[in-house]
Amino acid sequence: SRQFFVGGNFKMNPCSQAEKIALVKILNEADLDPSTEVILAPPSLYLIPLLETVKKGIKVSAQNCFNKNSGAYTGEISPTQLANAGIPFVILGHSERRTLFHETSELVAEKTRAALDASLSVILCVGETLQERESGQTTAVVESQLKAVVDLLKENDWSKVVIAYEPVWAIGTGKVATPAQAQETQAEIRSYLSKAVSPSVAANTRIIYGGSVNAKNCRELATLPDVDGFLVGGASLKPEFVDIVNSRR
Ligand code: 13P
Repeated sequence: SRQFFVGGNFKMNPCSQAEKIALVKILNEADLDPSTEVILAPPSLYLIPLLETVKKGIKVSAQNCFNKNSGAYTGEISPTQLANAGIPFVILGHSERRTLFHETSELVAEKTRAALDASLSVILCVGETLQERESGQTTAVVESQLKAVVDLLKENDWSKVVIAYEPVWAIGTGKVATPAQAQETQAEIRSYLSKAVSPSVAANTRIIYGGSVNAKNCRELATLPDVDGFLVGGASLKPEFVDIVNSRR
């Protein structure tokens, strides 16, 4: 009963209005599986224009927000500002934020707390580097990223969280995780939630996969018991995003 969830993370693309409109037109006219929850996360500049042009049923998400609601934080956007603008979702803890912008798991947890307090839903990203996987630390790394958040959330907060497992080595590399790798780690995440939060939160929380998902590899991944959808980067900018949304039919 976990609704299939497909998010498109545009990252810092597309740059032109024309590209954005072409993409939205394709999505608006496409036959999207109504049982998939579809979220688009454009750069913040495009959040409101996208919200105004996307057809009903497609939701819009920010790619980041701050952990405070107002004040002297040049360049940041607050969870309350997003909520007041009608943006229902925010992606937090993406590996590009953790790596390039030095976000710690503690900061990601504070942002998650602040976003939930502002009534946003959160797509919380976790994942290991290649070196961490090769040295057998995948479970420890992912659990420690999750633990920081677990420590700041109450059980009922989890109904507004989607966990995106995105192995860093699979992001933008064309090296998608094998079905066995995705299933194994996502089952571990679910069993961690069961221990650290509760069995019902573990059973009800969507755990989605991200990293080089495309129209070709999505169908097999979508059959896995612990893969409840995808967070898509590069392919979310192309018409094949429609096939990923429809990967379960
Ligand atoms: P790619 O699909 O381009 O590998 O990016 C995945 C991602 O980081 C989504 O958040």
